[in-house]
Amino acid sequence: MRNQLKHFIHGEWVESTGSETYDVINPATEEVMGTISMGTKEDLDKAVAAAKQALPSFSQTSKQERVEMLERIAEEYEKRKDDIIETITDELGSPQKISEKVHYSMGYNHFSQAAESLKDFSFMEDRGGHTVVKETIGVSGLITPWNFPTNQTSTKIASAFAAGSPVILKPAEMTPFAAIILTEIFEAAGVPKGVFNLVNGSGEVIGNGISSHPDIDFVSFTGSGAVGKKIMENASETIKNFALELGGKSPLIVLEDADVEAAARAAVNHIATNTGQVCSAATRVLVPSKMKKSFEEAVLKVLPEFPVGDPREDNLIGPLISKKQWDTVQSYIEKGVDEGASLLTGGTGKPEGLEQGYYAKPTVFTDVQNNMVIAQEEIFGPVTTIITYDTLDEAINIANETIYGLAGYVIGNDPENLRKAATGIRAGRIKVNDTEADFSAPFGGYKQSGIGREWGDYGIEEYLETKTILGFPS
Ligand code: NAD
Repeated sequence: MRNQLKHFIHGEWVESTGSETYDVINPATEEVMGTISMGTKEDLDKAVAAAKQALPSFSQTSKQERVEMLERIAEEYEKRKDDIIETITDELGSPQKISEKVHYSMGYNHFSQAAESLKDFSFMEDRGGHTVVKETIGVSGLITPWNFPTNQTSTKIASAFAAGSPVILKPAEMTPFAAIILTEIFEAAGVPKGVFNLVNGSGEVIGNGISSHPDIDFVSFTGSGAVGKKIMENASETIKNFALELGGKSPLIVLEDADVEAAARAAVNHIATNTGQVCSAATRVLVPSKMKKSFEEAVLKVLPEFPVGDPREDNLIGPLISKKQWDTVQSYIEKGVDEGASLLTGGTGKPEGLEQGYYAKPTVFTDVQNNMVIAQEEIFGPVTTIITYDTLDEAINIANETIYGLAGYVIGNDPENLRKAATGIRAGRIKVNDTEADFSAPFGGYKQSGIGREWGDYGIEEYLETKTILGFPS
């Protein structure tokens, strides 16, 4: 059992002022794996006061000092590799391979990338008649979801630290233990007192408390659109700045000249990775009408490459995070059937032999119309939809018929068509073929997928204010 009934405030683990606790469930076993404290408004006030106290000195540290701090964090992070992988496997139900290749490495990459981006970052620009100075935005409140416990926390914290902003982090209740390891990493790396504060708790108390707190200058939130709207509303009371990373329903356009098996593997991989609980997952696969049959055959052929089962064994798809998420996914599958889409594979219920744990069947719908609920709403599970098109213009139109704009994917060979699709999709991040991840590239969404950008130098920008000085003596 992992219990942490304290919060981390002003460089120390301190008792919660409340007595409410939360049991964290391992989604593969459905058993309690640990307990955390649910913080109170008073705990949050203490954390904000600590960050506010740390602000004057931390914001004045040199770029070099902060680069070295981020490098020390990356080094300490590496030392906790096994713990991080094991913790994420247990709290999220992520298969060990994914915990290592995706979750562990994303956290590491954000800290090391922030150090690199900071080295080249310019905080002052002489523009002839005036000077523009970038200064820390102040105290930042960070609110993160459960689906990437080290990725979202690390990108926000690394950028804030690079910009000289002390933070209060409220991680998701369902996956708090990775954030507790991060806290220990910051202690080991000598992050100054008050620069990092962790308050566990509910969205209602700590989340709302952060977005409406008069002494918090900036809120960075990743999560659902519904909560994103609430953050905007609360932030408006104090004209607080905010960044929102929200949901998606991203398209994958398969071009006519694509390798059909590679395209099918990519499509399945999108719903396999993190059991489809990925904001940027492609869950609308747009396939040329004449390729439909061969694409469906290829999906069925590659599916066994992605075994579902115990995340501690050699599987690639684990359980969903909770019973609630499992129920949501089931109701979307029912909805798809009711709407008249055809089940190519999967369906409701649990995969054979996996009665314990929140496992869902990888499900592929075909004969899907883009206006169906299963093609418009974020399901956040191992469910995808195949939609056919006749011309590339039609595919781009379908791709853009969504309230979201987080990501887009295109697979094929003809450079002109790849370019046309990549530039035609209205989304914040487009991936052409199987390109490697790049942690210096900005990440964020158009439309209802969010406001602002994270990662690398764009991420650092979020935590800065812009000051103009006229007549600055050179
Ligand atoms: P959620 O919005 O329910 O919760 C996210 C966080 O917000 C949690 O820490 C939660 O406790 C907190 N919260 C809840 N109510 C709050 C309130 N009133 N005020 C402030 N904070 C509050 O989302 P979730 O179910 O945890 O995560 C899934 C969603 O996150 C999906 O929609 C997914 O697409 C999105 N997401 C987006 C990205 C991205 O980068 N764009 C990444 C991952 C997940």
